[in-house]
Amino acid sequence: MLIKVLGSLSPYSHYDSACPSYRVYDDEMNLLLDCGSGSHRFFDMQKDLNNLHIFVSHLHHDHYNDLYNYLYSSFALHNLGIIKDKIQVYLPRYPYEIYTNIIREHNSYADFNTIYDGMKVVIGGATITFCEIQHSKDVQNLAIKVNKCDSSIVYSGDVSYIDKDKLANFAKNCDLLICESSLLKKHNFPSICNHLTAYQAGCIAKEANVQKLLLTHFWPDENLNEYEKEAKSVFENTLIAKENLILEVGE
Ligand SMILES: [Zn+2]
Ligand SMILES: [Zn+2]
Repeated sequence: MLIKVLGSLSPYSHYDSACPSYRVYDDEMNLLLDCGSGSHRFFDMQKDLNNLHIFVSHLHHDHYNDLYNYLYSSFALHNLGIIKDKIQVYLPRYPYEIYTNIIREHNSYADFNTIYDGMKVVIGGATITFCEIQHSKDVQNLAIKVNKCDSSIVYSGDVSYIDKDKLANFAKNCDLLICESSLLKKHNFPSICNHLTAYQAGCIAKEANVQKLLLTHFWPDENLNEYEKEAKSVFENTLIAKENLILEVGE
């Protein structure tokens, strides 16, 4: 499996960066984990919209704003005969008002599916599973695992450290944990809040015994070396997400 970073910042995109989005793909599957603001600029609509399955971890704008670009492109490119199959969109049901607004979008060539804790989907030889992880009170957030041929990737969505054990358990022994780390220790947030520090992401990676940790969801203009340093103080095999970075997991 290949993983391409399409977005690594929050709450807004700027210059050559975008809000969270990761493409996971091989010859048989074409998945997108989140589609944050500006991230579609790093996606080839003409070439890669066919057979696309989009998974949204939670309905905060920094994770789904570009969904409308994919939906409208599916509508237009289907009308032009460029894509044959509907794109498949997977969303959490809550907040219900946002969910219903999305699935009512007429100018799209898409099917909408609801995701929930414990759900399992098989696509292109990969098994995709979901685990509800607490983030903020206004949304339902689901971590996403992609497992294929004994290799696995886990994407955290946004995380409160209160659910650290649940996330570590879900990510146990995976090859790659893509984990949000919005904060640094110096920001002085309470240890349990709506996001993780890079240090906390490192602790979860260590507890889960993952092969590699990819940090993401950075504050724009913050020095990325600080995130890396903080996580590496507890988990050495840490990388920093950057738009257009491509990683390989398994065969
Ligand atoms: Zn969020
Ligand atoms: Zn976010």
